[in-house]
Amino acid sequence: MASKVYFMNDRSASAETSLVSKMLTVFDAADLGSLIEPGNVVAIKLHCGEYNNTAYLRPVYARALADKIKSLGGRPFVCDTTTLPYAAYSSRATALDIMLTAERNGLNSGTLGCPFICADGYLGTDDTRIDLPEGVILKEAYIAKAIALADVLIALTHFKGHGGGVFGGAIKNLGIGAQSKRGKMNVHQGMGTFGINASAFYPHLCNGTDCPTWEACNTICPYGVISIEDHTMRFEADKCCGCAACQGVVTCGVLEAPMERNDAGTTAIADGALGAVKAVGREKCGFVNLAIDIAPACDCAGFSDRSIVPNIGVFASKDPVAIDQACLDKVTAAAAIPGSRAEEAGVSAAGVPKFAAASCRWGSSEFLQINGGLRNGLGTNEYELLEVPPADARQFVFQWDPRPVGIRLRRAFEKEKVYPEGGFHRNEAFDLELVR
Ligand code: SF4
Ligand code: SF4
Repeated sequence: MASKVYFMNDRSASAETSLVSKMLTVFDAADLGSLIEPGNVVAIKLHCGEYNNTAYLRPVYARALADKIKSLGGRPFVCDTTTLPYAAYSSRATALDIMLTAERNGLNSGTLGCPFICADGYLGTDDTRIDLPEGVILKEAYIAKAIALADVLIALTHFKGHGGGVFGGAIKNLGIGAQSKRGKMNVHQGMGTFGINASAFYPHLCNGTDCPTWEACNTICPYGVISIEDHTMRFEADKCCGCAACQGVVTCGVLEAPMERNDAGTTAIADGALGAVKAVGREKCGFVNLAIDIAPACDCAGFSDRSIVPNIGVFASKDPVAIDQACLDKVTAAAAIPGSRAEEAGVSAAGVPKFAAASCRWGSSEFLQINGGLRNGLGTNEYELLEVPPADARQFVFQWDPRPVGIRLRRAFEKEKVYPEGGFHRNEAFDLELVR
């Protein structure tokens, strides 16, 4: 049976067509408010953005959603999780790091109207193990404790590309983003036959200390597996757990991860997402995707490139596979933005899939996460797209004082002279043709 996906486009010309208003409108249309009973603790899972990323969702979206949840009697918190080290200068590897990064990116209790928390604890080991007999690749998942224990989970997702996962949507927001650090290691195939630990090793390709970036290689591994000696690299494979810290540093071919690594890890994202849904309860999970600022790389990159296609709009559903498929189809249908990575990759035309060529470093299929989610029962990619009309504008007025501004300011204007008596000094005779 097809799942319902509610949609409004990105065009905006009034209060009720603001993207914030549209996000709340599709939330209502998808009946996500019915998931929340008074007193329910509601996890809003988003990506807080890596240090210096600029495409992540502006905090106002989470704020508006948190206010909405509070109006329904829920107790919201906004959260993200610690990452694997991934890169030499990761900014979200511990709770201390992620809290500082999130604050710099504008996410804190002052801006959100509710706490921002790191859901998997200081080092990423605070989690709940979930059995996954139905998993395609994973047979267990480790879900960040604060998410696993929440009464309701709303995945508030920035839909965009991803260098490994091909695209980042609702499935990935949970399949990676709701996993603890060891859960992420599990999804990324660490310690397994597809992991970096199973890399082929070609030490003769290493230039040792003659290489301009040898110090980065020498210091990247948290377990001391890699060391650079005079003319070569030492790699103690038996000590490598596949944490992926070195993947962005040792890019010269000395280490060659198994070809299947990316496809296995990306398919496993759907298993991780299923783990999060099972932890909270399928009937207590809702999904909101904002397909805007569709950069080729994820919010976990420390930069944001030009969007590959124009903004598309906002989506809401109770099915994470259906909502991602709907977003993928819209991106495929769009023509690429000139000068974007999609144009460089030769996938500009409307009707051509974009992410495999423009986003994925290995050219993997954009259907891996979707097909993983079909096989493990996470959802369906058959969907009915329902266009939602704008809601009544009055519900989107300034929440702290909904009176018209003339009424609000009347008393203050009586007490305080705001404008100069007799008007301003100006050159009212200036010939405007001189500046037209
Ligand atoms: S492993 Fe590669 S990048 Fe690292 S020092 Fe050797 S040649 Fe340089
Ligand atoms: S060598 Fe292994 S343990 Fe060390 S950073 Fe790379 S993947 Fe992680």
